Amino acid sequence: MTSTSVDYQKILNQINQEFIDQPRSGKVASYIPELAKVPSNKFGMHLYDLDGSNYCFGDSQERFSIQSISKVFTLSLAMKVMGDKLWNRVGVEPSGDPFNSLSQLENDSGIPRNPFINAGALVVADVLVSSFSNAKAALLTFLHEITGNPQIDFDPVVAASEQSKGYRNYAMVNYLKSFGNIENDVEDVLDFYFHQCSIAMSCQELANAFIIFANNGTTIGSEREFLTGRQVKRVNALMQTCGFYDEAGEFSFEVGLPGKSGVGGGIVAVHPDRFAVAVWSPPLNPKGNSALGMASLERLTTLTGFSIF
Ligand code: GLN
Repeated sequence: MTSTSVDYQKILNQINQEFIDQPRSGKVASYIPELAKVPSNKFGMHLYDLDGSNYCFGDSQERFSIQSISKVFTLSLAMKVMGDKLWNRVGVEPSGDPFNSLSQLENDSGIPRNPFINAGALVVADVLVSSFSNAKAALLTFLHEITGNPQIDFDPVVAASEQSKGYRNYAMVNYLKSFGNIENDVEDVLDFYFHQCSIAMSCQELANAFIIFANNGTTIGSEREFLTGRQVKRVNALMQTCGFYDEAGEFSFEVGLPGKSGVGGGIVAVHPDRFAVAVWSPPLNPKGNSALGMASLERLTTLTGFSIF
């Protein structure tokens, strides 16, 4: 079956109909106070096909806090600036632990298991703070360039809200620094990290941004190469094995695509050579991943027959 023989819009409509009136399972994240204010019934999905077509439903154009989805963008930028030396400071193994766990760092001497758990993302943040005179501006520029959309920005209220309660991340970055795996002032690293997590994007914008991971590192339309094929292979491999923390196996099992979640309730997934798709529903399952987001993507790969397996 080719992409063109599948009626994506019909399938998205079906997914919407199946779930729209179902009671939502899970809980909206509340450890970041601003996120607790987001209505739990928000639900949207956007699929961007490599042929340039767009398919969507629901709240797909409303911006939300992308949170850990931002780790894919910061990793991409760090791979560009640091090359393979990055892997001396962060591993590439699934952790099997929750995203905010501190427990493995002691045994692993401050080398986080992978770049998508918080410890790994904080090391990546440190790399970017060291590499750019203004890392926050560099991250936004990267996002503006891969999307062609200069409107994408941080949400300073969400960043401040997380900073006010970010006790575990403060503990984590100080702990990493005690092992010598943070070069910069911990406040500077955390300021960058809380801002990257606060970026507000819609499902449409996320699907647009992630199309480079479905297209060998190159945007469609403008055909600009941002990552090499080898780098994209690695980012997708990490999304597949680590993108959902201690639920990465379940996501592979149910959905079968590389993807990344965030505690704002967003999930983005890619089918290399076919599409990028983003879904948003704020209530999270106990592993911190959008419950309805996962269910919707399971329906998408089942109804289309398109998973990578
Ligand atoms: N900013 C959040 C945190 O550090 C991101 C976590 C997530 O989305 N899984 O806790």
